[in-house]
Amino acid sequence: MRRTMVLVGVLAVAVLAATLSMAQTRTPTALDIYVIDVEGGNATLIVAPSRESMLIDTGNAGVAAARDAGRIIEAIHDAGLQQIDHLITTHWHGDHFGGMAELAAKVPIREFIDHGPNVQPGELADTFLLRTYPQLYAKAKHTVVKAGDKISMSGLDVRVVTSAGETIKTPLSGAGTPNPYCSDFKASDNNAEDPQSVGTYIAFGRFRAVHLGDLTKNKEFELMCPNNRLGAVDVLLGLHHGVSSSNSEVMVHALHPRVAIMNNGTRKGGEPDVMKTVHSSPGLEDLWQLHFSLLSGQEYTVPGMFIANTIDDQQQTMPIAPMAAPQPGPGVPPAPVHNGKAYWIKLSAQQDGSFMITNTRNGFTKSYGAGL
Ligand SMILES: [Zn+2]
Ligand SMILES: [Zn+2]
Repeated sequence: MRRTMVLVGVLAVAVLAATLSMAQTRTPTALDIYVIDVEGGNATLIVAPSRESMLIDTGNAGVAAARDAGRIIEAIHDAGLQQIDHLITTHWHGDHFGGMAELAAKVPIREFIDHGPNVQPGELADTFLLRTYPQLYAKAKHTVVKAGDKISMSGLDVRVVTSAGETIKTPLSGAGTPNPYCSDFKASDNNAEDPQSVGTYIAFGRFRAVHLGDLTKNKEFELMCPNNRLGAVDVLLGLHHGVSSSNSEVMVHALHPRVAIMNNGTRKGGEPDVMKTVHSSPGLEDLWQLHFSLLSGQEYTVPGMFIANTIDDQQQTMPIAPMAAPQPGPGVPPAPVHNGKAYWIKLSAQQDGSFMITNTRNGFTKSYGAGL
Protein backbone atom coordinates (compact mmCIF):
# COMPACT_ATOMS: atom_id res chain seq x y z
CA MET A 1 0.00 0.00 0.00
CA ARG A 2 2.68 2.43 1.07
CA ARG A 3 4.81 1.49 -1.95
CA THR A 4 1.88 2.25 -4.29
CA MET A 5 1.42 5.65 -2.66
CA VAL A 6 5.12 6.44 -3.17
CA LEU A 7 4.86 5.32 -6.79
CA VAL A 8 1.80 7.52 -7.36
CA GLY A 9 3.65 10.40 -5.71
CA VAL A 10 6.70 9.91 -7.96
CA LEU A 11 4.50 9.73 -11.03
CA ALA A 12 2.65 12.90 -10.01
CA VAL A 13 5.95 14.77 -9.61
CA ALA A 14 7.14 13.48 -13.00
CA VAL A 15 3.93 14.61 -14.70
CA LEU A 16 4.15 18.00 -13.01
CA ALA A 17 7.78 18.44 -14.09
CA ALA A 18 6.92 17.50 -17.67
CA THR A 19 4.00 19.95 -17.68
CA LEU A 20 6.18 22.72 -16.32
CA SER A 21 8.89 22.15 -18.91
CA MET A 22 6.27 22.18 -21.69
CA ALA A 23 4.90 25.43 -20.31
CA GLN A 24 8.41 26.84 -20.28
CA THR A 25 9.06 25.94 -23.90
CA ARG A 26 5.78 27.61 -24.84
CA THR A 27 6.63 30.84 -23.03
CA PRO A 28 7.90 33.22 -25.73
CA THR A 29 11.40 34.54 -25.18
CA ALA A 30 11.74 36.48 -28.42
CA LEU A 31 10.93 40.01 -29.43
CA ASP A 32 8.87 39.68 -32.61
CA ILE A 33 8.59 42.37 -35.26
CA TYR A 34 6.08 42.10 -38.11
CA VAL A 35 6.72 44.39 -41.06
CA ILE A 36 3.30 44.35 -42.71
CA ASP A 37 2.66 45.08 -46.39
CA VAL A 38 0.43 48.13 -46.66
CA GLU A 39 1.49 49.07 -50.21
CA GLY A 40 3.98 51.82 -49.61
CA GLY A 41 2.42 52.96 -46.34
CA ASN A 42 3.58 51.85 -42.90
CA ALA A 43 2.39 49.28 -40.36
CA THR A 44 5.03 47.71 -38.13
CA LEU A 45 4.00 45.53 -35.19
CA ILE A 46 6.38 45.09 -32.25
CA VAL A 47 5.60 42.28 -29.79
CA ALA A 48 7.59 41.95 -26.57
CA PRO A 49 8.25 38.48 -25.08
CA SER A 50 5.56 39.35 -22.49
CA ARG A 51 3.23 39.82 -25.51
CA GLU A 52 2.85 43.50 -24.71
CA SER A 53 2.45 45.11 -28.12
CA MET A 54 3.18 48.31 -29.97
CA LEU A 55 1.95 49.06 -33.48
CA ILE A 56 3.65 51.79 -35.48
CA ASP A 57 1.12 53.22 -37.98
CA THR A 58 -2.01 51.75 -39.55
CA GLY A 59 -1.57 51.83 -43.35
CA ASN A 60 -3.47 53.67 -46.06
CA ALA A 61 -6.70 55.68 -46.10
CA GLY A 62 -9.70 55.57 -48.42
CA VAL A 63 -10.54 52.39 -50.32
CA ALA A 64 -7.31 50.81 -49.04
CA ALA A 65 -8.16 51.30 -45.35
CA ALA A 66 -10.18 48.09 -44.88
CA ARG A 67 -7.59 46.06 -46.83
CA ASP A 68 -4.69 47.42 -44.78
CA ALA A 69 -6.50 47.09 -41.44
CA GLY A 70 -7.28 43.48 -42.40
CA ARG A 71 -3.62 42.77 -43.09
CA ILE A 72 -2.68 44.25 -39.69
CA ILE A 73 -5.34 42.14 -37.96
CA GLU A 74 -3.89 38.99 -39.57
CA ALA A 75 -0.52 39.80 -38.02
CA ILE A 76 -2.15 40.58 -34.66
CA HIS A 77 -3.79 37.14 -34.73
CA ASP A 78 -0.57 35.44 -35.79
CA ALA A 79 1.13 36.99 -32.74
CA GLY A 80 -1.67 35.68 -30.50
CA LEU A 81 -2.66 39.17 -29.35
CA GLN A 82 -6.08 40.29 -28.12
CA GLN A 83 -5.32 44.01 -28.21
CA ILE A 84 -2.81 46.67 -29.18
CA ASP A 85 -1.27 48.17 -26.05
CA HIS A 86 0.41 51.17 -27.72
CA LEU A 87 -0.33 52.62 -31.14
CA ILE A 88 2.16 55.17 -32.44
CA THR A 89 1.06 57.30 -35.35
CA THR A 90 4.36 58.65 -36.65
CA HIS A 91 2.75 61.61 -38.47
CA TRP A 92 -0.46 62.79 -40.10
CA HIS A 93 -0.15 61.46 -43.63
CA GLY A 94 -2.83 59.18 -45.05
CA ASP A 95 -0.39 56.29 -45.62
CA HIS A 96 0.33 56.20 -41.86
CA PHE A 97 -3.00 56.76 -40.08
CA GLY A 98 -5.33 55.63 -42.89
CA GLY A 99 -6.57 52.31 -41.49
CA MET A 100 -6.82 53.40 -37.84
CA ALA A 101 -10.61 53.69 -37.52
CA GLU A 102 -11.12 50.35 -39.35
CA LEU A 103 -8.55 48.68 -37.08
CA ALA A 104 -9.92 50.21 -33.86
CA ALA A 105 -13.38 48.88 -34.76
CA LYS A 106 -12.01 45.32 -34.63
CA VAL A 107 -9.22 45.35 -32.03
CA PRO A 108 -9.08 47.26 -28.72
CA ILE A 109 -6.32 49.87 -28.70
CA ARG A 110 -5.25 50.93 -25.19
CA GLU A 111 -3.01 53.94 -25.91
CA PHE A 112 -2.83 56.35 -28.85
CA ILE A 113 0.54 58.06 -29.24
CA ASP A 114 1.36 60.91 -31.65
CA HIS A 115 3.46 64.06 -32.08
CA GLY A 116 0.55 66.48 -31.57
CA PRO A 117 -1.68 68.22 -34.15
CA ASN A 118 -0.87 68.14 -37.87
CA VAL A 119 1.30 71.02 -39.07
CA GLN A 120 0.50 70.40 -42.76
CA PRO A 121 -3.11 71.32 -43.46
CA GLY A 122 -5.05 68.89 -45.63
CA GLU A 123 -8.64 67.73 -45.87
CA LEU A 124 -7.93 64.12 -44.88
CA ALA A 125 -5.85 64.82 -41.76
CA ASP A 126 -7.86 67.89 -40.71
CA THR A 127 -11.13 65.98 -40.74
CA PHE A 128 -9.66 62.88 -39.13
CA LEU A 129 -8.13 64.84 -36.25
CA LEU A 130 -11.25 66.90 -35.70
CA ARG A 131 -13.92 64.22 -35.96
CA THR A 132 -12.57 60.66 -35.85
CA TYR A 133 -9.42 60.56 -33.72
CA PRO A 134 -10.92 62.05 -30.50
CA GLN A 135 -13.64 59.41 -30.63
CA LEU A 136 -11.10 56.63 -30.98
CA TYR A 137 -9.03 57.65 -27.96
CA ALA A 138 -11.99 58.78 -25.83
CA LYS A 139 -12.07 55.48 -23.92
CA ALA A 140 -8.30 54.90 -24.04
CA LYS A 141 -5.16 56.84 -23.19
CA HIS A 142 -3.93 59.62 -25.48
CA THR A 143 -0.26 60.58 -25.23
CA VAL A 144 1.58 63.32 -27.12
CA VAL A 145 5.26 62.39 -26.98
CA LYS A 146 8.40 64.51 -27.03
CA ALA A 147 11.87 63.49 -28.07
CA GLY A 148 13.50 61.76 -25.08
CA ASP A 149 10.29 60.23 -23.71
CA LYS A 150 10.18 56.56 -22.81
CA ILE A 151 7.34 54.25 -23.79
CA SER A 152 6.89 51.72 -21.03
CA MET A 153 6.91 48.13 -22.37
CA SER A 154 7.89 45.22 -20.18
CA GLY A 155 11.20 43.66 -21.14
CA LEU A 156 12.04 46.36 -23.68
CA ASP A 157 13.65 49.78 -23.55
CA VAL A 158 11.62 51.91 -25.95
CA ARG A 159 12.67 55.49 -26.47
CA VAL A 160 11.21 58.31 -28.55
CA VAL A 161 14.20 59.86 -30.35
CA THR A 162 12.34 62.34 -32.58
CA SER A 163 8.91 63.97 -32.38
CA ALA A 164 7.24 67.18 -33.56
CA GLY A 165 10.39 68.30 -35.34
CA GLU A 166 12.60 67.92 -32.26
CA THR A 167 15.37 65.37 -31.81
CA ILE A 168 17.00 64.05 -28.64
CA LYS A 169 19.85 66.30 -27.56
CA THR A 170 21.64 63.80 -25.33
CA PRO A 171 23.09 60.68 -26.91
CA LEU A 172 21.66 57.30 -25.92
CA SER A 173 23.87 55.37 -23.53
CA GLY A 174 27.00 54.15 -25.30
CA ALA A 175 26.42 56.50 -28.28
CA GLY A 176 27.62 60.03 -29.06
CA THR A 177 30.85 59.60 -31.00
CA PRO A 178 31.55 62.07 -33.85
CA ASN A 179 29.74 61.10 -37.07
CA PRO A 180 32.24 61.03 -39.98
CA TYR A 181 29.49 61.40 -42.62
CA CYS A 182 28.33 64.85 -41.47
CA SER A 183 30.83 66.79 -43.62
CA ASP A 184 29.34 65.45 -46.90
CA PHE A 185 25.71 66.10 -45.97
CA LYS A 186 23.43 67.72 -48.58
CA ALA A 187 20.33 69.38 -47.16
CA SER A 188 16.92 68.15 -48.36
CA ASP A 189 13.35 68.42 -47.23
CA ASN A 190 9.95 67.79 -48.78
CA ASN A 191 6.78 68.70 -46.85
CA ALA A 192 5.76 69.86 -43.40
CA GLU A 193 4.54 66.60 -41.82
CA ASP A 194 7.33 64.10 -42.59
CA PRO A 195 9.89 66.01 -40.44
CA GLN A 196 7.44 65.78 -37.50
CA SER A 197 7.70 61.98 -37.45
CA VAL A 198 7.80 60.16 -34.13
CA GLY A 199 11.03 58.13 -34.28
CA THR A 200 11.27 55.08 -32.00
CA TYR A 201 14.36 53.27 -30.77
CA ILE A 202 13.86 49.77 -29.39
CA ALA A 203 16.38 47.89 -27.26
CA PHE A 204 15.87 44.29 -26.14
CA GLY A 205 18.89 42.92 -24.29
CA ARG A 206 21.71 43.48 -26.77
CA PHE A 207 19.37 43.80 -29.77
CA ARG A 208 18.79 47.29 -31.20
CA ALA A 209 16.30 48.51 -33.81
CA VAL A 210 15.08 51.93 -34.90
CA HIS A 211 12.06 53.17 -36.87
CA LEU A 212 12.15 56.85 -37.78
CA GLY A 213 8.80 57.11 -39.58
CA ASP A 214 9.22 59.36 -42.64
CA LEU A 215 11.85 61.58 -41.00
CA THR A 216 13.53 63.68 -43.70
CA LYS A 217 17.22 64.25 -44.40
CA ASN A 218 17.43 67.62 -42.62
CA LYS A 219 16.10 66.05 -39.42
CA GLU A 220 18.40 63.05 -39.87
CA PHE A 221 21.24 65.58 -39.85
CA GLU A 222 19.94 67.27 -36.68
CA LEU A 223 19.66 63.88 -34.97
CA MET A 224 22.96 62.42 -36.16
CA CYS A 225 25.35 65.42 -36.38
CA PRO A 226 27.90 66.39 -35.28
CA ASN A 227 27.67 63.37 -32.98
CA ASN A 228 25.82 60.12 -33.65
CA ARG A 229 23.30 60.17 -30.80
CA LEU A 230 21.84 56.75 -31.60
CA GLY A 231 25.00 54.66 -32.02
CA ALA A 232 24.82 51.46 -34.06
CA VAL A 233 21.71 49.36 -34.57
CA ASP A 234 21.15 45.79 -35.67
CA VAL A 235 18.09 46.59 -37.75
CA LEU A 236 16.90 49.73 -39.50
CA LEU A 237 13.14 49.59 -40.04
CA GLY A 238 10.97 51.50 -42.50
CA LEU A 239 13.38 53.83 -44.31
CA HIS A 240 10.49 56.13 -45.31
CA HIS A 241 9.48 53.56 -47.95
CA GLY A 242 12.94 53.97 -49.51
CA VAL A 243 12.20 57.50 -50.68
CA SER A 244 15.12 59.81 -51.44
CA SER A 245 13.95 62.78 -49.32
CA SER A 246 15.17 60.56 -46.46
CA ASN A 247 17.98 58.04 -46.06
CA SER A 248 21.11 60.19 -46.07
CA GLU A 249 24.46 58.50 -45.40
CA VAL A 250 24.56 60.64 -42.25
CA MET A 251 21.79 58.42 -40.94
CA VAL A 252 21.98 55.05 -42.77
CA HIS A 253 25.76 54.60 -42.80
CA ALA A 254 26.30 55.98 -39.31
CA LEU A 255 23.68 53.64 -37.81
CA HIS A 256 25.71 50.75 -39.29
CA PRO A 257 22.67 48.44 -39.53
CA ARG A 258 23.28 44.76 -40.20
CA VAL A 259 19.87 44.54 -41.80
CA ALA A 260 17.47 47.07 -43.30
CA ILE A 261 13.78 46.29 -43.89
CA MET A 262 12.14 48.69 -46.35
CA ASN A 263 8.38 49.40 -46.41
CA ASN A 264 8.29 50.39 -50.08
CA GLY A 265 5.49 50.03 -52.63
CA THR A 266 5.50 48.71 -56.19
CA ARG A 267 6.27 52.20 -57.48
CA LYS A 268 7.06 54.07 -54.30
CA GLY A 269 10.57 54.22 -52.92
CA GLY A 270 13.45 51.92 -53.71
CA GLU A 271 14.87 54.76 -55.77
CA PRO A 272 18.41 54.38 -57.17
CA ASP A 273 19.95 56.97 -54.81
CA VAL A 274 18.51 55.27 -51.74
CA MET A 275 19.41 51.80 -53.01
CA LYS A 276 23.02 52.93 -53.57
CA THR A 277 23.17 54.38 -50.04
CA VAL A 278 21.72 51.24 -48.46
CA HIS A 279 23.71 48.73 -50.55
CA SER A 280 26.96 50.57 -49.73
CA SER A 281 26.22 50.93 -46.02
CA PRO A 282 29.20 49.60 -44.03
CA GLY A 283 28.43 46.32 -42.27
CA LEU A 284 25.10 45.79 -44.04
CA GLU A 285 24.41 42.08 -44.52
CA ASP A 286 20.99 42.25 -46.18
CA LEU A 287 18.24 44.55 -47.35
CA TRP A 288 14.74 43.04 -47.14
CA GLN A 289 11.82 44.66 -48.99
CA LEU A 290 8.04 44.40 -48.82
CA HIS A 291 7.95 44.71 -52.61
CA PHE A 292 10.11 45.01 -55.67
CA SER A 293 9.91 48.60 -56.91
CA LEU A 294 9.70 49.67 -60.54
CA LEU A 295 11.88 52.58 -59.44
CA SER A 296 14.73 50.14 -58.65
CA GLY A 297 14.61 48.01 -61.79
CA GLN A 298 16.80 44.91 -61.87
CA GLU A 299 19.76 47.25 -61.65
CA TYR A 300 19.25 48.06 -57.97
CA THR A 301 16.82 45.48 -56.62
CA VAL A 302 17.66 42.77 -54.10
CA PRO A 303 17.20 39.09 -55.05
CA GLY A 304 13.56 38.03 -55.07
CA MET A 305 13.92 35.78 -52.05
CA PHE A 306 14.38 38.90 -49.89
CA ILE A 307 11.18 40.44 -51.32
CA ALA A 308 7.95 39.61 -49.53
CA ASN A 309 5.29 40.46 -52.10
CA THR A 310 4.52 40.28 -55.78
CA ILE A 311 1.56 41.85 -57.60
CA ASP A 312 -1.89 40.69 -58.66
CA ASP A 313 -1.03 40.49 -62.37
CA GLN A 314 2.40 38.95 -62.42
CA GLN A 315 4.79 40.54 -64.89
CA GLN A 316 6.79 38.26 -67.18
CA THR A 317 9.97 40.24 -66.75
CA MET A 318 11.23 43.16 -64.79
CA PRO A 319 13.16 45.78 -66.76
CA ILE A 320 16.82 46.12 -65.88
CA ALA A 321 16.72 49.92 -65.96
CA PRO A 322 15.00 51.69 -63.09
CA MET A 323 11.88 53.60 -64.07
CA ALA A 324 11.93 57.33 -63.46
CA ALA A 325 9.32 58.29 -60.88
CA PRO A 326 6.38 59.79 -62.82
CA GLN A 327 5.32 63.30 -61.86
CA PRO A 328 1.97 63.09 -60.09
CA GLY A 329 -0.98 64.28 -62.16
CA PRO A 330 -3.50 63.12 -64.74
CA GLY A 331 -2.42 60.63 -67.36
CA VAL A 332 0.07 58.80 -65.14
CA PRO A 333 -0.38 55.04 -65.45
CA PRO A 334 -1.27 53.49 -62.09
CA ALA A 335 1.38 51.59 -60.13
CA PRO A 336 1.03 47.77 -60.31
CA VAL A 337 -1.64 46.81 -57.80
CA HIS A 338 -1.53 44.25 -55.04
CA ASN A 339 -4.88 43.75 -53.36
CA GLY A 340 -4.59 39.97 -53.10
CA LYS A 341 -2.92 37.91 -50.39
CA ALA A 342 -0.14 39.86 -48.71
CA TYR A 343 2.86 38.60 -46.78
CA TRP A 344 4.73 40.16 -43.90
CA ILE A 345 8.39 39.98 -43.08
CA LYS A 346 8.81 38.59 -39.58
CA LEU A 347 11.82 39.21 -37.39
CA SER A 348 12.42 37.37 -34.11
CA ALA A 349 15.18 38.71 -31.88
CA GLN A 350 16.81 37.20 -28.81
CA GLN A 351 18.30 38.98 -25.77
CA ASP A 352 21.85 38.15 -26.91
CA GLY A 353 21.32 40.29 -30.04
CA SER A 354 20.90 37.39 -32.47
CA PHE A 355 17.84 37.40 -34.69
CA MET A 356 16.09 35.56 -37.47
CA ILE A 357 14.10 36.96 -40.39
CA THR A 358 11.47 35.09 -42.39
CA ASN A 359 9.91 35.97 -45.72
CA THR A 360 6.43 34.50 -45.21
CA ARG A 361 5.73 34.38 -48.97
CA ASN A 362 8.41 31.80 -49.77
CA GLY A 363 9.44 30.57 -46.30
CA PHE A 364 13.00 31.77 -46.78
CA THR A 365 14.59 32.31 -43.37
CA LYS A 366 17.97 33.69 -42.48
CA SER A 367 19.65 33.77 -39.06
CA TYR A 368 21.93 36.55 -37.93
CA GLY A 369 24.29 35.79 -35.05
CA ALA A 370 24.76 37.99 -32.01
CA GLY A 371 26.53 41.24 -32.93
CA LEU A 372 29.83 42.33 -31.42
ZN1 LIG B 1 1.75 44.53 -51.58
ZN1 LIG C 1 4.82 57.64 -45.64
